Amino acid sequence: MNEIVLETKNLTKYYKKVAAVYDLNIQVFRGDVFGFLGPNGAGKSTTIRMILSLIKPTNGKIEIFGKDLKKHRSEVLKRVGSLVEKPDFYNHLSALDNLKFIGSLNGNVDNNKIKKVLEIANLIDRMHDKVKNYSHGMKQRLGIAQALLNDPELLILDEPTSGLDPNGMHEVRELIKTLSSEFNTTIILSSHLLYEVEQVATRMAIINLGKLIVQGKVQEILNDEKQIIHIKVDNLQKAFELLKNENYVSDIKIEDVFIKLTAPNNKTSDINELLVKNQIKVSSIIPKRTLEDYYLELTQNEHPKMRMKKNV
Ligand code: ATP
Repeated sequence: MNEIVLETKNLTKYYKKVAAVYDLNIQVFRGDVFGFLGPNGAGKSTTIRMILSLIKPTNGKIEIFGKDLKKHRSEVLKRVGSLVEKPDFYNHLSALDNLKFIGSLNGNVDNNKIKKVLEIANLIDRMHDKVKNYSHGMKQRLGIAQALLNDPELLILDEPTSGLDPNGMHEVRELIKTLSSEFNTTIILSSHLLYEVEQVATRMAIINLGKLIVQGKVQEILNDEKQIIHIKVDNLQKAFELLKNENYVSDIKIEDVFIKLTAPNNKTSDINELLVKNQIKVSSIIPKRTLEDYYLELTQNEHPKMRMKKNV
């Protein structure tokens, strides 16, 4: 258990004087759906391109399956599947024929395998349709099907839901969940959307301006985060006296018709239970600082100039 599938060690990439990625240390464990989260320009694609050996790091190294990528490039990358840019297919060919063609380039992947990946991507009923008649979401799923042709142990998806409508996003997320739960594929999923990572990822790293801000289990990171909560009850003074003695509560005060306090995200139900147990009627418990605010705060508090060589 807890086998590290991929690790970056002080990974750094400069474009001239700008650090696209700086001193990045991330660990992806077997079985993870690893959310690689950061706003536009944070350095996600640059990191993924280094992981896939499409560009060279300026400094640092990458280990995949315990092996130095630089020394074991082709051996390691054979076990990795990826979807990094908009997938490119022949529009006048069917999905099946596209995958047959790609399969033949990769050393004759057999037909059963092709049908299997189309089934996983929920495209088997449409496999004879020409790709030009596919929706954007279907093309993305076909791109993922293609990435599965070599039975990858590690699948890397760079912003796989980008540009999709809510339905398409949902279908891609469901596919990621299936790959993880039924096929035990380790997945790295980059995204700039917190709610997307929250829904599918087990662990995550947040990066901004090329640097790691936090990494760990998604629920732990999000639950530990404190939020401001507004509570409306029928007996403000009694509720105040009760809550102020709880060790997870801070900055508590009565303001207008509310009790306002700071507590970790996962404590809202405890607060409710405590009040109700003490015969206090609770009419609302409203978290005022959402996870989205937390993410924005983490990713907006540095100035882009901090990325320049002289500052890092
Ligand atoms: P996005 O979701 O917008 O693609 P990202 O997190 O993937 O964002 P990157 O594309 O890795 O971010 O970009 C990181 C930084 O590196 C940005 O400041 C970008 O302008 C810069 N950058 C990326 N590629 C190049 C390049 N080929 N030449 C110069 N600068 C680059």
